Amino acid sequence: MSEPVLPPPYTASKADAILSEPSQNAPKVFFGRIIHSKSLKEIEIFPKAALGIDSTGTIEFLDPTVASAAEACAKHKHFALATTITLRPLQFLFPGLIDTHMHAPQYPNMALGMEGDLKEWCENWTDPIEASYADTSKARRVYREMVQKELENGSTTVAYNSSIHPDATNVLADTCLQFGQRAIIGKLCILVGSTHDNWEKNAEQSVHDECKVVEHIRRIDPAGSLVLPCIQPRAGSYVPPDLMSGLGALYRANSPIRVQAHMCETPLEVANMHELHAGFASYADMYDHYGLFGPRTILAHCIHLSERDLEVMAARKVGVAHNANSNTCLTDGWCRVRQLLDKGIKVGLGTDCSAGYSISILNAMRQASNVSRHLTIHTGDPRWKLSFEELVYLATMGGAEVCSLEDTVGNFAVGKAFDALVVDVGLEDNINTNGWESDDMALLKKWVFLGDDRSIRKVFVGGRLVAGKDMKESRLFSCA
Ligand SMILES: [Zn+2]
Repeated sequence: MSEPVLPPPYTASKADAILSEPSQNAPKVFFGRIIHSKSLKEIEIFPKAALGIDSTGTIEFLDPTVASAAEACAKHKHFALATTITLRPLQFLFPGLIDTHMHAPQYPNMALGMEGDLKEWCENWTDPIEASYADTSKARRVYREMVQKELENGSTTVAYNSSIHPDATNVLADTCLQFGQRAIIGKLCILVGSTHDNWEKNAEQSVHDECKVVEHIRRIDPAGSLVLPCIQPRAGSYVPPDLMSGLGALYRANSPIRVQAHMCETPLEVANMHELHAGFASYADMYDHYGLFGPRTILAHCIHLSERDLEVMAARKVGVAHNANSNTCLTDGWCRVRQLLDKGIKVGLGTDCSAGYSISILNAMRQASNVSRHLTIHTGDPRWKLSFEELVYLATMGGAEVCSLEDTVGNFAVGKAFDALVVDVGLEDNINTNGWESDDMALLKKWVFLGDDRSIRKVFVGGRLVAGKDMKESRLFSCA
């Protein structure tokens, strides 16, 4: 008779457990379970390792040979006096999540207006709310709450779309810098195809206002340590040739700079682009013609692509923000992520709020998994299914590549900025860890599919503690 299988020796974290608080600028050493993505095929898990972060917030070592934080401090030069953080049995360190596509001004509309398709949703919900940010005080109220919520949900880097208003967009940049979120931000450019006065006067004004935002961001964060500017045509169907040409010139004048735009979201949107920009062989050829296609270009959606689109995208090394939640809510279609990856095109995940109803990249991972499985149901071909390893990569390293930040964030490689989450799967929330999990990978899977902001205890960006359940609780319970 075989021995009964015993559960592994996991013990639940105490709900009131608070880690020792490191001072912001001191070197830090974390010791415990460390998990990150190495490639689309490999998640690396260290059950016990030490991660050293220097006083600038840069990762100096990842050492799996030491048995404690104290041993790591003794072994590594400059870390003798480091603040040490030893993780509890059901905690792990994970790279900060990266949201490659989010509409900041649409935040108040989350979960509303999903009855229609893209056109109806834009006209009834998006245009009115985006137009309302002519009132800059609204931007101050909304963005303050939104950026904190994003951080609490573990999004350490977000590529934001803004509204057509330079002042409100500058408020967004100021807010990200204030709360310590890494962000890519531009003013939205719209001249045609919109409703509710949600458009700009002319191409000159649009380019001028975009330029004002780029200058503002470069003034408040000259080194680009957190907030980075971008040029932001809403989509080919909203930006006529004279404005697209002006944005191309702005791109060349400010290079290197990022571009964020939408592409091939619905068949109608593709047709509208061709009507406005006659004579191009594909959507991608249009953006490429104006010089807006390159390794720093972030393209949302990319669902209804032609073979020619794929060719140009691969040649120019652009990145795709896959917004599975919003694509399903608006019944846009299925983004064929496998096809993009097979062509060597960079892919990250986006929440695309408010067309998507959740700001959580954990939710984006689940939705991306489901959409890939629907493609398998639809075609009968299992190759469309994204593996768990691929989902983890897309949410972290893939997002970093799409944002052209792969040398800065995305995993715990030495030399990168410490953008990280302390995750706890032993709390009284939705994650049912009870000792029967087979291994550390099971803990990660439980978090990805069952977790939320309650299981994210600490959020670091560039080594600075910026959010997390612990921080929120200490604010709630501290005496005045
Ligand atoms: Zn979008």
